Amino acid sequence: MAKIAFIGLGNMGGPMAANLAKAQHHVTAFDLSDAAVAAAVEKGAHKAASAAEAVKGAEIVVTMLPAGKHVREVYEKDVLPNVSKGALLIDCSTIDVDSARHVAGLAAKAGLEMVDGPVSGGVGGATAGTLTFMVGGPDAAFAKARPILEKMGKNIVHAGGSGNGQVAKICNNMILGVSMIAVSEAFMLAKRLGLDAQKMFDVVSTSSGSCWSLINYCPVPGPVPASPANRDYQAGFTAAMMLKDLMLAQQAANAAGASTPLGAEAAQLFSLFVNSGQAAKDFSGIVKMLDGK
Ligand code: NAD
Repeated sequence: MAKIAFIGLGNMGGPMAANLAKAQHHVTAFDLSDAAVAAAVEKGAHKAASAAEAVKGAEIVVTMLPAGKHVREVYEKDVLPNVSKGALLIDCSTIDVDSARHVAGLAAKAGLEMVDGPVSGGVGGATAGTLTFMVGGPDAAFAKARPILEKMGKNIVHAGGSGNGQVAKICNNMILGVSMIAVSEAFMLAKRLGLDAQKMFDVVSTSSGSCWSLINYCPVPGPVPASPANRDYQAGFTAAMMLKDLMLAQQAANAAGASTPLGAEAAQLFSLFVNSGQAAKDFSGIVKMLDGK
């Protein structure tokens, strides 16, 4: 049993903290939202009055926060000044590569081990404990983090040094954003040309155009019963989250001098979709915008 401080108990952090408590770890939880803390306490965590209080005496700190600015602030103001020597820091938020490397650098300066471990798998994966973790950080820190991450996820991949977890995450989601648009465009073209959606699915799913966006998350109702298209695009993964990740990819591409024209176009299209009032819808709902609706 480890003493774990968990900061950020939202849609993802809440169930992740619950899985750590379920695995008999002593979880001390903090969030700016009292309701989120209360929900975590109900699932076996212990309440802390502040992030600083949560990390005092903790052997492991896990954070699951919205964006880079929150991560920088929480680590600079609360975690690093108050955490015990020898504690391992694990940030699971999806944030910009620069912030991840900046915070890891501050931790290293303070003599603390840290990994970035963003996730894929959504709220369903967080609840079921089947997330994929993409981990960036030194070998020794990864080895220490792995048994903790295994209580929250199924696939734990060491992606390399600090920040590489974030690199893997934004590259993956750039592929996802682009491929969802490509699949959506193809279905709308097929419809206009008189090809039935199920026939289109039957052909493409066993042909060279097949991909995850088609097979697991088909953007039109019918062929994949579990996809959000069958429940009016109620979110699994919101359009706002997809836009956030595409913007992070563009920011990183600009900084690194990488050419990502399709990533840039996908970011523009998702920006249009989000700004048309669809931020909370599932990202696959972009098919309706591409259909002119
Ligand atoms: P969320 O908004 O539901 O939760 C974030 C929580 O952080 C909130 O409860 C908020 O009150 C808390 N918070 C913010 N600032 C804080 C501070 N200074 N101190 C303490 N708590 C603070 O977001 P989420 O859906 O849980 O996502 C968290 C991270 O995981 C994001 O970076 C997101 O991109 C990433 N992610 C989300 C999903 C998903 O499907 N929701 C999937 C993969 C990755």
